Amino acid sequence: MASDTPRTGYALLRDPRSNKGSAFTEEERRRHGLEGLLPPTPSSLEHQVARIHTELANLDVDLQKYLLLSDLQARNETLFYAVLMSDPATFMPLVYTPTVGEACQKFNHIFRAARGLYLPITAKGRLKELMGHWPQPDVRFIVVTDGERILGLGDLGLGGMGIPIGKLSLYTACAGVPPEVCLPIVLDVGTNNQDLLDDPLYLGLREERVRGDDYHAFIAEFVEAVQLLYPKCCIQWEDFANVNAVPILAAYRDKVCTYNDDIQGTAAVALAGIYASLRITGGKLADQRFLFLGGGSAATGIAELLSQAMALEGLDIAEARKRNALFDINGLMVTSRTDLAEFQRPFALDCDPIHDFTEAVKVLKPNGIIGVSTVPKLFNQHVIEAMAEVNERPIIFPYSNPTSRSECTAEEAYRWSQGRAVFASGSPFPPVEVDGKRFVPGQGNNVYIFPAMGMAVYATEATRVTEEMFIVAARAVAEQVGEDSLEKGLIYPPQSQILAASLHVATKVAEYIYDHGLARVPRPDDVKAQIEAKAYKPVYPE
Ligand code: NAD
Repeated sequence: MASDTPRTGYALLRDPRSNKGSAFTEEERRRHGLEGLLPPTPSSLEHQVARIHTELANLDVDLQKYLLLSDLQARNETLFYAVLMSDPATFMPLVYTPTVGEACQKFNHIFRAARGLYLPITAKGRLKELMGHWPQPDVRFIVVTDGERILGLGDLGLGGMGIPIGKLSLYTACAGVPPEVCLPIVLDVGTNNQDLLDDPLYLGLREERVRGDDYHAFIAEFVEAVQLLYPKCCIQWEDFANVNAVPILAAYRDKVCTYNDDIQGTAAVALAGIYASLRITGGKLADQRFLFLGGGSAATGIAELLSQAMALEGLDIAEARKRNALFDINGLMVTSRTDLAEFQRPFALDCDPIHDFTEAVKVLKPNGIIGVSTVPKLFNQHVIEAMAEVNERPIIFPYSNPTSRSECTAEEAYRWSQGRAVFASGSPFPPVEVDGKRFVPGQGNNVYIFPAMGMAVYATEATRVTEEMFIVAARAVAEQVGEDSLEKGLIYPPQSQILAASLHVATKVAEYIYDHGLARVPRPDDVKAQIEAKAYKPVYPE
Protein backbone atom coordinates (compact mmCIF):
# COMPACT_ATOMS: atom_id res chain seq x y z
CA MET A 1 0.00 0.00 0.00
CA ALA A 2 1.19 3.46 -0.78
CA SER A 3 2.47 5.92 1.77
CA ASP A 4 3.30 9.61 1.63
CA THR A 5 7.06 8.99 1.85
CA PRO A 6 8.67 9.56 -1.56
CA ARG A 7 10.28 6.38 -2.77
CA THR A 8 13.15 5.73 -5.15
CA GLY A 9 14.62 2.77 -6.98
CA TYR A 10 13.12 -0.65 -6.50
CA ALA A 11 10.75 0.52 -3.74
CA LEU A 12 9.19 2.99 -6.21
CA LEU A 13 8.30 0.14 -8.55
CA ARG A 14 6.66 -1.66 -5.63
CA ASP A 15 4.49 1.32 -4.62
CA PRO A 16 1.24 1.03 -6.63
CA ARG A 17 0.33 4.69 -6.19
CA SER A 18 3.64 6.04 -7.53
CA ASN A 19 4.62 3.23 -9.86
CA LYS A 20 4.51 4.00 -13.58
CA GLY A 21 6.14 0.71 -14.61
CA SER A 22 7.51 0.88 -18.13
CA ALA A 23 6.13 4.44 -18.47
CA PHE A 24 8.89 6.03 -16.35
CA THR A 25 10.71 8.39 -18.71
CA GLU A 26 14.47 8.24 -19.20
CA GLU A 27 14.89 11.36 -17.11
CA GLU A 28 12.75 9.90 -14.28
CA ARG A 29 14.72 6.68 -14.42
CA ARG A 30 17.96 8.62 -13.93
CA ARG A 31 16.45 10.75 -11.16
CA HIS A 32 14.95 7.87 -9.17
CA GLY A 33 17.66 5.27 -9.57
CA LEU A 34 15.56 3.11 -11.88
CA GLU A 35 18.10 2.64 -14.68
CA GLY A 36 18.62 -1.04 -15.31
CA LEU A 37 15.48 -2.01 -13.38
CA LEU A 38 13.16 -1.67 -16.39
CA PRO A 39 13.30 -2.60 -20.08
CA PRO A 40 15.15 0.30 -21.76
CA THR A 41 12.41 1.70 -24.04
CA PRO A 42 9.77 3.71 -22.14
CA SER A 43 6.07 3.07 -22.92
CA SER A 44 3.30 5.65 -22.95
CA LEU A 45 0.25 5.15 -20.71
CA GLU A 46 -1.77 4.51 -23.88
CA HIS A 47 0.60 1.70 -24.83
CA GLN A 48 0.35 0.22 -21.37
CA VAL A 49 -3.47 0.30 -21.57
CA ALA A 50 -3.31 -1.41 -24.98
CA ARG A 51 -0.98 -4.07 -23.51
CA ILE A 52 -3.50 -4.87 -20.75
CA HIS A 53 -6.38 -4.97 -23.27
CA THR A 54 -4.41 -7.55 -25.27
CA GLU A 55 -3.61 -9.61 -22.20
CA LEU A 56 -7.29 -9.61 -21.17
CA ALA A 57 -8.41 -10.58 -24.67
CA ASN A 58 -6.27 -13.70 -24.40
CA LEU A 59 -8.12 -14.89 -21.28
CA ASP A 60 -11.35 -16.86 -21.63
CA VAL A 61 -12.54 -16.93 -18.04
CA ASP A 62 -13.93 -13.82 -16.34
CA LEU A 63 -12.44 -14.74 -12.96
CA GLN A 64 -8.99 -14.84 -14.57
CA LYS A 65 -9.61 -11.37 -15.97
CA TYR A 66 -10.71 -10.23 -12.50
CA LEU A 67 -7.45 -11.58 -11.04
CA LEU A 68 -5.36 -9.93 -13.72
CA LEU A 69 -7.03 -6.59 -12.99
CA SER A 70 -6.72 -7.12 -9.25
CA ASP A 71 -2.98 -7.79 -9.58
CA LEU A 72 -2.69 -4.70 -11.75
CA GLN A 73 -4.43 -2.62 -9.06
CA ALA A 74 -1.88 -3.85 -6.53
CA ARG A 75 1.00 -3.00 -8.89
CA ASN A 76 0.12 0.20 -10.74
CA GLU A 77 -3.02 2.03 -9.60
CA THR A 78 -2.98 4.68 -12.34
CA LEU A 79 -2.81 2.08 -15.07
CA PHE A 80 -5.58 0.04 -13.38
CA TYR A 81 -7.94 3.04 -13.46
CA ALA A 82 -6.82 4.07 -16.96
CA VAL A 83 -7.86 0.59 -18.13
CA LEU A 84 -11.20 0.66 -16.27
CA MET A 85 -12.03 4.15 -17.49
CA SER A 86 -11.04 3.32 -21.07
CA ASP A 87 -14.17 1.18 -21.42
CA PRO A 88 -16.31 1.19 -18.26
CA ALA A 89 -19.18 -0.81 -19.75
CA THR A 90 -16.77 -3.69 -20.43
CA PHE A 91 -14.74 -3.52 -17.23
CA MET A 92 -17.46 -2.85 -14.62
CA PRO A 93 -18.81 -6.42 -14.89
CA LEU A 94 -15.25 -7.74 -14.43
CA VAL A 95 -14.26 -5.77 -11.31
CA TYR A 96 -17.78 -5.78 -9.84
CA THR A 97 -21.00 -7.71 -10.48
CA PRO A 98 -21.34 -10.37 -11.70
CA THR A 99 -17.66 -11.52 -11.60
CA VAL A 100 -17.01 -10.22 -8.07
CA GLY A 101 -19.61 -12.71 -6.79
CA GLU A 102 -17.45 -15.64 -7.85
CA ALA A 103 -14.37 -13.84 -6.52
CA CYS A 104 -16.04 -13.57 -3.09
CA GLN A 105 -17.07 -17.24 -3.16
CA LYS A 106 -13.48 -18.24 -3.94
CA PHE A 107 -11.86 -15.48 -1.86
CA ASN A 108 -10.01 -17.87 0.44
CA HIS A 109 -8.58 -19.81 -2.48
CA ILE A 110 -7.44 -16.85 -4.57
CA PHE A 111 -6.29 -14.45 -1.83
CA ARG A 112 -3.12 -12.67 -2.94
CA ALA A 113 -2.27 -9.31 -1.43
CA ALA A 114 -3.54 -7.26 1.49
CA ARG A 115 -6.00 -4.49 0.57
CA GLY A 116 -8.20 -2.62 3.04
CA LEU A 117 -8.86 -3.51 6.67
CA TYR A 118 -9.94 -6.82 8.21
CA LEU A 119 -11.51 -6.14 11.59
CA PRO A 120 -12.36 -9.30 13.58
CA ILE A 121 -14.77 -9.15 16.49
CA THR A 122 -12.03 -10.78 18.59
CA ALA A 123 -10.33 -7.34 18.44
CA LYS A 124 -13.24 -5.57 20.11
CA GLY A 125 -12.01 -2.81 22.35
CA ARG A 126 -9.01 -2.32 20.04
CA LEU A 127 -10.63 -1.25 16.76
CA LYS A 128 -9.14 2.24 16.84
CA GLU A 129 -5.68 0.72 17.27
CA LEU A 130 -6.15 -1.68 14.34
CA MET A 131 -7.59 1.03 12.13
CA GLY A 132 -4.62 3.22 12.98
CA HIS A 133 -2.49 0.75 11.00
CA TRP A 134 -4.03 2.00 7.76
CA PRO A 135 -1.36 4.15 6.09
CA GLN A 136 -3.60 6.96 4.74
CA PRO A 137 -4.32 9.78 7.20
CA ASP A 138 -7.36 11.29 5.44
CA VAL A 139 -9.97 8.63 4.67
CA ARG A 140 -13.22 10.08 3.32
CA PHE A 141 -15.08 7.04 2.13
CA ILE A 142 -15.45 3.62 3.70
CA VAL A 143 -17.43 0.76 2.18
CA VAL A 144 -17.96 -1.86 4.87
CA THR A 145 -19.64 -5.27 4.93
CA ASP A 146 -20.01 -8.07 7.46
CA GLY A 147 -20.29 -10.56 4.62
CA GLU A 148 -23.68 -11.95 5.63
CA ARG A 149 -25.73 -11.28 2.47
CA ILE A 150 -23.32 -10.98 -0.40
CA LEU A 151 -25.29 -10.18 -3.58
CA GLY A 152 -27.75 -13.07 -3.94
CA LEU A 153 -25.10 -15.53 -2.69
CA GLY A 154 -25.78 -15.47 1.05
CA ASP A 155 -23.27 -15.66 3.90
CA LEU A 156 -19.71 -15.61 2.53
CA GLY A 157 -18.09 -14.55 5.80
CA LEU A 158 -14.75 -12.81 5.34
CA GLY A 159 -14.90 -13.47 1.58
CA GLY A 160 -17.43 -10.64 1.38
CA MET A 161 -14.37 -8.33 1.35
CA GLY A 162 -14.40 -8.59 -2.46
CA ILE A 163 -17.50 -6.37 -2.45
CA PRO A 164 -16.08 -3.26 -0.68
CA ILE A 165 -12.90 -3.57 -2.77
CA GLY A 166 -14.82 -3.84 -6.07
CA LYS A 167 -17.39 -1.22 -5.17
CA LEU A 168 -14.78 1.37 -4.22
CA SER A 169 -13.06 0.79 -7.58
CA LEU A 170 -16.32 1.92 -9.16
CA TYR A 171 -16.53 5.01 -6.92
CA THR A 172 -13.23 6.01 -8.51
CA ALA A 173 -13.68 4.73 -12.07
CA CYS A 174 -17.29 5.92 -12.49
CA ALA A 175 -17.30 9.22 -10.59
CA GLY A 176 -13.69 10.15 -9.84
CA VAL A 177 -13.58 9.72 -6.05
CA PRO A 178 -9.78 9.68 -5.49
CA PRO A 179 -8.59 6.17 -4.59
CA GLU A 180 -6.34 7.42 -1.76
CA VAL A 181 -9.36 8.57 0.27
CA CYS A 182 -11.19 5.24 -0.11
CA LEU A 183 -10.98 2.37 2.38
CA PRO A 184 -12.61 -1.09 2.02
CA ILE A 185 -13.39 -2.86 5.30
CA VAL A 186 -14.79 -6.22 6.34
CA LEU A 187 -16.10 -6.70 9.85
CA ASP A 188 -15.50 -10.37 10.63
CA VAL A 189 -18.15 -11.43 13.12
CA GLY A 190 -17.97 -15.14 12.20
CA THR A 191 -19.96 -17.04 9.59
CA ASN A 192 -22.83 -19.49 9.57
CA ASN A 193 -21.69 -20.94 6.24
CA GLN A 194 -20.70 -24.51 7.14
CA ASP A 195 -18.75 -25.01 3.90
CA LEU A 196 -16.50 -22.11 4.88
CA LEU A 197 -16.13 -23.31 8.47
CA ASP A 198 -15.07 -26.72 7.12
CA ASP A 199 -12.66 -25.30 4.53
CA PRO A 200 -9.04 -25.54 5.74
CA LEU A 201 -8.19 -22.52 3.56
CA TYR A 202 -10.87 -20.24 5.13
CA LEU A 203 -9.18 -17.03 6.29
CA GLY A 204 -11.84 -15.68 8.65
CA LEU A 205 -12.84 -16.42 12.23
CA ARG A 206 -14.02 -20.01 12.60
CA GLU A 207 -17.02 -19.33 14.73
CA GLU A 208 -20.76 -18.77 14.38
CA ARG A 209 -21.94 -15.26 13.69
CA VAL A 210 -22.15 -13.07 16.75
CA ARG A 211 -25.65 -11.61 17.19
CA GLY A 212 -27.54 -9.28 19.48
CA ASP A 213 -25.95 -6.81 21.87
CA ASP A 214 -22.37 -7.94 21.26
CA TYR A 215 -22.80 -7.43 17.52
CA HIS A 216 -24.32 -3.99 17.87
CA ALA A 217 -21.68 -2.94 20.42
CA PHE A 218 -19.02 -3.94 17.86
CA ILE A 219 -20.75 -1.85 15.17
CA ALA A 220 -20.95 1.08 17.61
CA GLU A 221 -17.24 0.80 18.41
CA PHE A 222 -16.48 0.75 14.67
CA VAL A 223 -18.56 3.86 13.96
CA GLU A 224 -16.94 5.67 16.90
CA ALA A 225 -13.42 4.71 15.75
CA VAL A 226 -14.17 6.05 12.26
CA GLN A 227 -15.36 9.37 13.73
CA LEU A 228 -12.23 9.69 15.88
CA LEU A 229 -9.73 8.79 13.15
CA TYR A 230 -11.47 10.20 10.07
CA PRO A 231 -14.01 12.89 11.09
CA LYS A 232 -14.88 13.76 7.47
CA CYS A 233 -15.52 10.15 6.47
CA CYS A 234 -18.75 8.75 5.03
CA ILE A 235 -19.58 5.13 5.88
CA GLN A 236 -21.43 3.12 3.24
CA TRP A 237 -22.95 -0.12 4.60
CA GLU A 238 -22.97 -2.91 2.04
CA ASP A 239 -24.52 -6.36 1.85
CA PHE A 240 -25.55 -6.73 5.47
CA ALA A 241 -28.50 -9.05 6.15
CA ASN A 242 -31.74 -7.09 6.38
CA VAL A 243 -32.14 -7.85 10.06
CA ASN A 244 -28.99 -5.82 10.69
CA ALA A 245 -28.99 -3.42 7.72
CA VAL A 246 -32.24 -1.70 8.65
CA PRO A 247 -31.49 -1.09 12.37
CA ILE A 248 -27.89 -0.01 11.64
CA LEU A 249 -29.07 2.58 9.13
CA ALA A 250 -31.79 3.76 11.52
CA ALA A 251 -29.30 4.04 14.39
CA TYR A 252 -26.67 6.14 12.58
CA ARG A 253 -28.25 8.01 9.66
CA ASP A 254 -29.07 11.07 11.77
CA LYS A 255 -25.86 10.96 13.79
CA VAL A 256 -23.07 10.57 11.23
CA CYS A 257 -22.49 10.78 7.48
CA THR A 258 -23.68 7.37 6.30
CA TYR A 259 -25.95 5.46 3.95
CA ASN A 260 -26.85 1.99 2.76
CA ASP A 261 -26.64 1.53 -0.97
CA ASP A 262 -28.67 -1.71 -1.00
CA ILE A 263 -31.58 0.17 0.52
CA GLN A 264 -31.21 3.80 -0.60
CA GLY A 265 -29.18 3.50 -3.82
CA THR A 266 -31.48 0.79 -5.09
CA ALA A 267 -34.57 2.85 -4.41
CA ALA A 268 -33.01 5.87 -6.11
CA VAL A 269 -32.14 4.01 -9.28
CA ALA A 270 -35.70 2.71 -9.51
CA LEU A 271 -37.02 6.23 -8.97
CA ALA A 272 -34.68 7.47 -11.72
CA GLY A 273 -36.22 4.88 -14.04
CA ILE A 274 -39.70 6.10 -13.13
CA TYR A 275 -38.78 9.77 -13.71
CA ALA A 276 -37.36 8.87 -17.14
CA SER A 277 -40.44 6.73 -17.92
CA LEU A 278 -42.67 9.71 -17.19
CA ARG A 279 -40.89 11.56 -19.99
CA ILE A 280 -42.39 8.88 -22.28
CA THR A 281 -45.76 8.31 -20.62
CA GLY A 282 -46.38 11.93 -19.57
CA GLY A 283 -47.93 13.12 -16.30
CA LYS A 284 -46.72 14.05 -12.83
CA LEU A 285 -45.20 11.51 -10.47
CA ALA A 286 -47.77 12.40 -7.80
CA ASP A 287 -50.58 11.35 -10.16
CA GLN A 288 -49.16 7.88 -10.79
CA ARG A 289 -50.03 4.61 -9.13
CA PHE A 290 -47.60 1.70 -8.78
CA LEU A 291 -48.09 -1.94 -7.86
CA PHE A 292 -45.14 -3.92 -6.50
CA LEU A 293 -44.84 -7.67 -6.84
CA GLY A 294 -43.03 -8.41 -3.58
CA GLY A 295 -43.23 -6.70 -0.21
CA GLY A 296 -39.71 -7.23 1.11
CA SER A 297 -36.90 -4.79 1.67
CA ALA A 298 -36.44 -3.82 -1.98
CA ALA A 299 -40.18 -3.23 -2.48
CA THR A 300 -40.69 -1.20 0.68
CA GLY A 301 -37.47 0.77 0.11
CA ILE A 302 -38.47 1.78 -3.42
CA ALA A 303 -42.11 2.38 -2.42
CA GLU A 304 -41.03 4.68 0.42
CA LEU A 305 -38.70 6.77 -1.76
CA LEU A 306 -41.38 7.01 -4.47
CA SER A 307 -43.83 8.15 -1.79
CA GLN A 308 -41.40 10.78 -0.50
CA ALA A 309 -40.82 12.02 -4.06
CA MET A 310 -44.61 12.21 -4.57
CA ALA A 311 -44.91 14.14 -1.32
CA LEU A 312 -42.38 16.68 -2.66
CA GLU A 313 -44.90 17.31 -5.44
CA GLY A 314 -47.48 18.25 -2.85
CA LEU A 315 -49.17 14.98 -1.96
CA ASP A 316 -49.77 14.12 1.70
CA ILE A 317 -47.21 11.38 2.58
CA ALA A 318 -49.84 8.93 3.88
CA GLU A 319 -51.82 9.46 0.68
CA ALA A 320 -48.66 9.01 -1.40
CA ARG A 321 -47.93 5.64 0.24
CA LYS A 322 -51.38 4.40 -0.77
CA ARG A 323 -50.35 5.05 -4.38
CA ASN A 324 -47.60 2.45 -3.98
CA ALA A 325 -49.40 -0.82 -3.34
CA LEU A 326 -47.57 -4.00 -2.35
CA PHE A 327 -48.53 -7.54 -3.36
CA ASP A 328 -46.56 -10.33 -1.68
CA ILE A 329 -46.78 -14.11 -1.44
CA ASN A 330 -50.07 -13.77 0.51
CA GLY A 331 -51.67 -11.34 -1.94
CA LEU A 332 -52.39 -7.62 -1.94
CA MET A 333 -51.40 -5.86 1.29
CA VAL A 334 -54.70 -4.64 2.72
CA THR A 335 -55.44 -3.24 6.15
CA SER A 336 -57.40 -6.35 7.20
CA ARG A 337 -54.29 -8.55 6.90
CA THR A 338 -52.80 -9.58 10.25
CA ASP A 339 -49.43 -10.76 8.93
CA LEU A 340 -48.01 -7.38 7.93
CA ALA A 341 -44.79 -6.06 9.47
CA GLU A 342 -44.54 -2.51 10.82
CA PHE A 343 -42.60 -1.35 7.74
CA GLN A 344 -45.28 -2.75 5.38
CA ARG A 345 -48.34 -1.38 7.17
CA PRO A 346 -48.15 2.20 5.78
CA PHE A 347 -48.67 0.84 2.26
CA ALA A 348 -51.71 -1.34 3.09
CA LEU A 349 -54.87 -0.41 1.19
CA ASP A 350 -58.29 -0.16 2.74
CA CYS A 351 -60.01 -2.56 0.31
CA ASP A 352 -61.02 -6.21 -0.08
CA PRO A 353 -58.25 -8.81 -0.23
CA ILE A 354 -57.02 -9.82 -3.72
CA HIS A 355 -55.00 -12.98 -4.22
CA ASP A 356 -54.41 -12.90 -7.97
CA PHE A 357 -51.87 -10.41 -9.33
CA THR A 358 -53.64 -9.96 -12.68
CA GLU A 359 -56.82 -9.24 -10.76
CA ALA A 360 -54.95 -6.63 -8.69
CA VAL A 361 -53.78 -4.96 -11.92
CA LYS A 362 -57.36 -4.86 -13.22
CA VAL A 363 -58.74 -3.41 -9.98
CA LEU A 364 -55.99 -0.90 -9.12
CA LYS A 365 -55.11 0.10 -12.70
CA PRO A 366 -51.47 0.96 -11.87
CA ASN A 367 -49.36 2.96 -14.32
CA GLY A 368 -46.42 0.72 -13.52
CA ILE A 369 -45.61 -2.66 -12.01
CA ILE A 370 -42.30 -3.30 -10.26
CA GLY A 371 -41.16 -6.88 -9.70
CA VAL A 372 -39.01 -7.45 -6.62
CA SER A 373 -40.31 -10.89 -5.66
CA THR A 374 -37.21 -13.02 -6.50
CA VAL A 375 -39.59 -15.32 -8.41
CA PRO A 376 -39.21 -15.63 -12.20
CA LYS A 377 -42.03 -15.51 -14.75
CA LEU A 378 -44.70 -13.97 -12.49
CA PHE A 379 -45.19 -11.12 -14.97
CA ASN A 380 -46.88 -13.56 -17.34
CA GLN A 381 -48.87 -12.84 -20.49
CA HIS A 382 -52.09 -12.19 -18.52
CA VAL A 383 -50.35 -9.61 -16.31
CA ILE A 384 -48.68 -7.76 -19.19
CA GLU A 385 -51.87 -7.80 -21.27
CA ALA A 386 -53.86 -6.44 -18.34
CA MET A 387 -51.28 -3.64 -17.94
CA ALA A 388 -51.44 -2.89 -21.68
CA GLU A 389 -55.22 -2.74 -21.46
CA VAL A 390 -55.28 -0.06 -18.75
CA ASN A 391 -52.28 1.96 -20.03
CA GLU A 392 -51.28 3.33 -23.40
CA ARG A 393 -47.62 2.93 -22.30
CA PRO A 394 -47.46 0.48 -19.35
CA ILE A 395 -44.35 0.74 -17.15
CA ILE A 396 -42.96 -2.77 -16.61
CA PHE A 397 -39.92 -3.14 -14.31
CA PRO A 398 -38.96 -6.76 -13.49
CA TYR A 399 -36.17 -5.95 -11.03
CA SER A 400 -35.43 -9.33 -9.46
CA ASN A 401 -31.83 -10.50 -9.91
CA PRO A 402 -30.12 -12.41 -11.39
CA THR A 403 -31.53 -12.78 -14.93
CA SER A 404 -32.86 -16.26 -14.11
CA ARG A 405 -35.16 -14.69 -11.46
CA SER A 406 -36.47 -11.83 -13.61
CA GLU A 407 -40.29 -11.60 -13.46
CA CYS A 408 -40.29 -11.48 -17.28
CA THR A 409 -37.85 -11.01 -20.13
CA ALA A 410 -37.59 -7.83 -22.19
CA GLU A 411 -38.86 -9.70 -25.22
CA GLU A 412 -41.97 -10.90 -23.34
CA ALA A 413 -42.79 -7.42 -22.05
CA TYR A 414 -42.50 -5.85 -25.51
CA ARG A 415 -44.26 -8.70 -27.37
CA TRP A 416 -47.22 -9.06 -25.01
CA SER A 417 -47.76 -5.28 -24.95
CA GLN A 418 -47.43 -4.91 -28.75
CA GLY A 419 -44.23 -2.92 -28.27
CA ARG A 420 -45.89 -0.39 -25.91
CA ALA A 421 -44.12 -1.34 -22.66
CA VAL A 422 -41.70 1.08 -21.01
CA PHE A 423 -39.25 -1.49 -19.74
CA ALA A 424 -36.25 -1.71 -17.39
CA SER A 425 -34.89 -4.70 -15.51
CA GLY A 426 -32.60 -5.49 -12.59
CA SER A 427 -30.32 -7.71 -14.67
CA PRO A 428 -29.32 -6.79 -18.21
CA PHE A 429 -31.17 -8.01 -21.30
CA PRO A 430 -29.76 -7.69 -24.83
CA PRO A 431 -31.57 -5.53 -27.41
CA VAL A 432 -34.68 -7.17 -28.88
CA GLU A 433 -36.67 -6.76 -32.07
CA VAL A 434 -40.47 -6.97 -31.91
CA ASP A 435 -42.67 -6.43 -34.97
CA GLY A 436 -39.75 -4.90 -36.86
CA LYS A 437 -38.87 -2.37 -34.13
CA ARG A 438 -35.61 -2.57 -32.19
CA PHE A 439 -35.72 -1.96 -28.43
CA VAL A 440 -32.73 -1.42 -26.12
CA PRO A 441 -33.74 -2.44 -22.58
CA GLY A 442 -32.29 -0.39 -19.71
CA GLN A 443 -30.82 -1.86 -16.55
CA GLY A 444 -31.66 -0.31 -13.18
CA ASN A 445 -28.09 -0.53 -11.95
CA ASN A 446 -27.15 1.24 -8.70
CA VAL A 447 -23.94 2.36 -10.39
CA TYR A 448 -25.89 5.35 -11.71
CA ILE A 449 -26.30 6.52 -8.11
CA PHE A 450 -23.67 5.44 -5.59
CA PRO A 451 -20.42 6.67 -7.20
CA ALA A 452 -21.99 10.08 -7.83
CA MET A 453 -23.31 10.24 -4.26
CA GLY A 454 -19.77 9.45 -3.06
CA MET A 455 -18.27 12.18 -5.22
CA ALA A 456 -20.79 14.79 -4.01
CA VAL A 457 -20.20 13.87 -0.36
CA TYR A 458 -16.41 13.90 -0.86
CA ALA A 459 -16.32 17.27 -2.65
CA THR A 460 -18.62 19.04 -0.18
CA GLU A 461 -17.43 17.21 2.96
CA ALA A 462 -21.12 16.64 3.67
CA THR A 463 -22.19 16.08 7.26
CA ARG A 464 -25.15 13.81 6.40
CA VAL A 465 -26.64 11.79 3.56
CA THR A 466 -30.38 12.48 3.45
CA GLU A 467 -33.30 10.80 1.62
CA GLU A 468 -33.84 13.92 -0.43
CA MET A 469 -30.29 13.68 -1.75
CA PHE A 470 -31.30 10.37 -3.34
CA ILE A 471 -34.37 11.98 -4.91
CA VAL A 472 -32.14 14.74 -6.33
CA ALA A 473 -29.75 12.07 -7.67
CA ALA A 474 -32.62 10.13 -9.27
CA ARG A 475 -33.87 13.27 -11.05
CA ALA A 476 -30.35 14.07 -12.24
CA VAL A 477 -29.95 10.58 -13.72
CA ALA A 478 -33.31 10.74 -15.51
CA GLU A 479 -32.76 14.18 -17.02
CA GLN A 480 -29.66 12.92 -18.81
CA VAL A 481 -31.47 10.29 -20.87
CA GLY A 482 -31.54 11.62 -24.43
CA GLU A 483 -34.63 11.68 -26.64
CA ASP A 484 -32.90 9.21 -28.99
CA SER A 485 -32.48 6.77 -26.07
CA LEU A 486 -36.11 7.19 -24.99
CA GLU A 487 -37.15 6.48 -28.58
CA LYS A 488 -35.37 3.09 -28.36
CA GLY A 489 -36.93 2.39 -24.98
CA LEU A 490 -33.68 3.04 -23.07
CA ILE A 491 -34.53 4.90 -19.86
CA TYR A 492 -31.07 5.06 -18.26
CA PRO A 493 -27.95 6.82 -19.61
CA PRO A 494 -25.58 4.49 -21.51
CA GLN A 495 -23.07 2.81 -19.19
CA SER A 496 -20.28 3.76 -21.60
CA GLN A 497 -20.90 7.41 -20.55
CA ILE A 498 -20.96 6.67 -16.84
CA LEU A 499 -18.25 9.16 -15.80
CA ALA A 500 -19.96 12.14 -17.47
CA ALA A 501 -23.35 10.99 -16.15
CA SER A 502 -22.00 10.60 -12.59
CA LEU A 503 -20.29 14.00 -12.58
CA HIS A 504 -23.60 15.60 -13.57
CA VAL A 505 -25.43 13.72 -10.79
CA ALA A 506 -22.66 14.60 -8.30
CA THR A 507 -22.97 18.29 -9.25
CA LYS A 508 -26.73 18.30 -8.65
CA VAL A 509 -26.40 16.50 -5.32
CA ALA A 510 -23.53 18.80 -4.27
CA GLU A 511 -25.67 21.86 -5.06
CA TYR A 512 -28.38 20.40 -2.84
CA ILE A 513 -25.84 19.78 -0.06
CA TYR A 514 -24.61 23.39 -0.23
CA ASP A 515 -28.14 24.80 -0.39
CA HIS A 516 -29.28 22.85 2.66
CA GLY A 517 -26.42 23.67 5.00
CA LEU A 518 -25.02 20.16 4.89
CA ALA A 519 -21.55 21.07 3.55
CA ARG A 520 -18.42 21.55 5.64
CA VAL A 521 -16.69 23.64 2.95
CA PRO A 522 -17.87 26.97 1.50
CA ARG A 523 -19.95 26.85 -1.67
CA PRO A 524 -17.84 27.68 -4.74
CA ASP A 525 -19.27 29.92 -7.48
CA ASP A 526 -19.22 27.06 -9.94
CA VAL A 527 -20.12 23.72 -8.32
CA LYS A 528 -19.76 21.80 -11.59
CA ALA A 529 -16.21 23.11 -12.04
CA GLN A 530 -15.41 22.16 -8.45
CA ILE A 531 -16.63 18.59 -8.95
CA GLU A 532 -14.70 18.24 -12.18
CA ALA A 533 -11.54 19.68 -10.64
CA LYS A 534 -11.72 17.30 -7.68
CA ALA A 535 -12.41 14.21 -9.80
CA TYR A 536 -9.56 11.72 -10.03
CA LYS A 537 -7.92 11.41 -13.43
CA PRO A 538 -5.87 8.37 -14.35
CA VAL A 539 -2.75 10.18 -15.51
CA TYR A 540 0.79 9.85 -14.23
CA PRO A 541 2.14 12.82 -12.28
CA GLU A 542 4.95 14.70 -14.01
P1 NAD B 1 -37.06 -10.17 0.03
O1 NAD B 1 -36.80 -11.62 0.22
O2 NAD B 1 -36.91 -9.22 1.18
O3 NAD B 1 -38.56 -9.98 -0.53
C1 NAD B 1 -39.16 -10.82 -1.46
C2 NAD B 1 -40.63 -10.52 -1.45
O4 NAD B 1 -41.25 -11.21 -2.53
C3 NAD B 1 -41.36 -10.94 -0.18
O5 NAD B 1 -42.23 -9.90 0.22
C4 NAD B 1 -42.18 -12.16 -0.61
O6 NAD B 1 -43.41 -12.29 0.11
C5 NAD B 1 -42.45 -11.82 -2.05
N1 NAD B 1 -42.75 -13.03 -2.83
C6 NAD B 1 -42.10 -14.20 -2.85
N2 NAD B 1 -42.73 -15.08 -3.65
C7 NAD B 1 -43.80 -14.43 -4.16
C8 NAD B 1 -44.85 -14.81 -5.00
N3 NAD B 1 -44.91 -16.04 -5.53
N4 NAD B 1 -45.79 -13.90 -5.30
C9 NAD B 1 -45.74 -12.66 -4.77
N5 NAD B 1 -44.76 -12.24 -3.94
C10 NAD B 1 -43.81 -13.13 -3.63
O7 NAD B 1 -36.11 -9.73 -1.17
P2 NAD B 1 -35.60 -8.25 -1.52
O8 NAD B 1 -34.34 -7.96 -0.78
O9 NAD B 1 -36.75 -7.33 -1.36
O10 NAD B 1 -35.18 -8.40 -3.06
C11 NAD B 1 -36.12 -8.81 -4.02
C12 NAD B 1 -35.49 -8.88 -5.40
O11 NAD B 1 -35.23 -7.57 -5.86
C13 NAD B 1 -34.14 -9.61 -5.47
O12 NAD B 1 -34.16 -10.49 -6.58
C14 NAD B 1 -33.15 -8.52 -5.71
O13 NAD B 1 -32.06 -8.99 -6.50
C15 NAD B 1 -33.97 -7.53 -6.47
N6 NAD B 1 -33.43 -6.18 -6.39
C16 NAD B 1 -33.07 -5.54 -7.54
C17 NAD B 1 -32.54 -4.29 -7.49
C18 NAD B 1 -32.13 -3.55 -8.74
O14 NAD B 1 -32.30 -4.04 -9.80
N7 NAD B 1 -31.56 -2.37 -8.65
C19 NAD B 1 -32.36 -3.69 -6.28
C20 NAD B 1 -32.76 -4.36 -5.11
C21 NAD B 1 -33.29 -5.61 -5.19
